[in-house]
Amino acid sequence: MVLFVEANLKRIKVNKYLIKVICLKKSTILGLALLVSIAATWGIVLGADLKNPSLIASPDLSKSKLVSLDLTKQEQNYYLVGNLDQARATINTDLGPQQTTFRGEIAFMATSDDKGQLKLELKRLNLISNGVSTKKGNSGVIGLNLDEYDAKTSYDQKTGKISSEFQSVLHYALIDDIKGFVPSKSEEGDVFYSFTEMMAGKFSGNLPESLQLSDKGYISLRGEVKLELDDPVLGLLENMVIYIDLEQLWWHLGFEPAEILLVQPVFIGTGPLDPTATGTAFDTLIDRSLEVWNRCGTERCLAIRSNLPIYVDNDDYRVLDNYDSDPAEANALRAEVNVPEAVEVFVVERWDPLWDGGGASWSSGTASAKVVTCDQQLAVPCPPPVGLWGCSGGFCGDVNYCHLAHELGHSLSLTHPGEVRAGRPEGSTNSIMEPSGFCRDNPNVQSAHNCRMASNPLLYWGRVVCTESPDITD
Ligand SMILES: [Zn+2]
Repeated sequence: MVLFVEANLKRIKVNKYLIKVICLKKSTILGLALLVSIAATWGIVLGADLKNPSLIASPDLSKSKLVSLDLTKQEQNYYLVGNLDQARATINTDLGPQQTTFRGEIAFMATSDDKGQLKLELKRLNLISNGVSTKKGNSGVIGLNLDEYDAKTSYDQKTGKISSEFQSVLHYALIDDIKGFVPSKSEEGDVFYSFTEMMAGKFSGNLPESLQLSDKGYISLRGEVKLELDDPVLGLLENMVIYIDLEQLWWHLGFEPAEILLVQPVFIGTGPLDPTATGTAFDTLIDRSLEVWNRCGTERCLAIRSNLPIYVDNDDYRVLDNYDSDPAEANALRAEVNVPEAVEVFVVERWDPLWDGGGASWSSGTASAKVVTCDQQLAVPCPPPVGLWGCSGGFCGDVNYCHLAHELGHSLSLTHPGEVRAGRPEGSTNSIMEPSGFCRDNPNVQSAHNCRMASNPLLYWGRVVCTESPDITD
């Protein structure tokens, strides 16, 4: 089920994105038809939309939550959140200082101790940049996110000074180009992990003095993030300073606000009017992806959003060579489109000869994450020998409804259950992150653990009302 949220479009002057809404449980569809999404794009979140304070509070914040500011009586966490846009930065590469800008999200969890002192803890710092020059070429999209969300933060209520020390995971597309991917393949062979680097980070800045929790208003934050490379793979970005100048941090009381992962579909054809263009399976696959990740809901509000498709007019990409025997064609296709703020999802007609699950994820968990898949996910042939990829003879047909939801789980850094990878969280047993095969779908089951552990520097704050719950509670 796909809804275009017209009620919200009235509030939003610029909306170039396709807004899709999935309500999982039929019993709640009607009542919740408009519950779901307020368009949250970079421009909207950072622009006119937030200048109207009446739009700050998410629509499902009940009044009881809004009026009660006594933290000792609240079990839920309070967050101070904001999106960064055009944050100036200097990155030292092997060519010397390079100027760039970052976008991203920041969040502090707020608690109060017995004496009523406000404590803040840095919980998110996602940063992405289009890239800078190095001696080995342009870095490509740069992504940074907190390692394990384990930052030490102090806030002085008398002076308003705030500082935080943390470790960040650094990745840029040039690492994949030069180093390739981590050699050992996943069990299903559908995920390619990037090498990543670590940076030691320190944020120091200023918040208002005597900050108290509030249910309204904006808070300004100024400061700088300094990052120093301490575990290089390529080592081309040695250190960086990012200047934070935010007028619009806002409170989310009583629950954690939504984080959005933006998807950029890429089809083969001349444009939306091309009847032979690929991507026929995409709507169905993205709808199921929205549904599966929307179920994170009450555990952690995560939402998938999709841009309108981009078309690559080159028939050579309609049918890709089997990636294991000849990866060049699929690699060339992946290089055709780079949308820095989104996970690109390339949809071809098919692979010939057939390739494993018919699709895969590259640069899992990084800002460079991409998926290549095919329309045959919903029209699976069943080639001999019987038994291959779950095939039991005949024609498998429209089986892989959850395939893209699974691949986007890889984009959110999750591995298959039982697949241990340093720095990458394992997906839950019997959940959407179970590998499948071309003739067998991934389980249509979400877990609280998957939702909590998902990460990618592309995630940014938006306003989505989350009411669904994971099928597996841990
Ligand atoms: Zn997989």
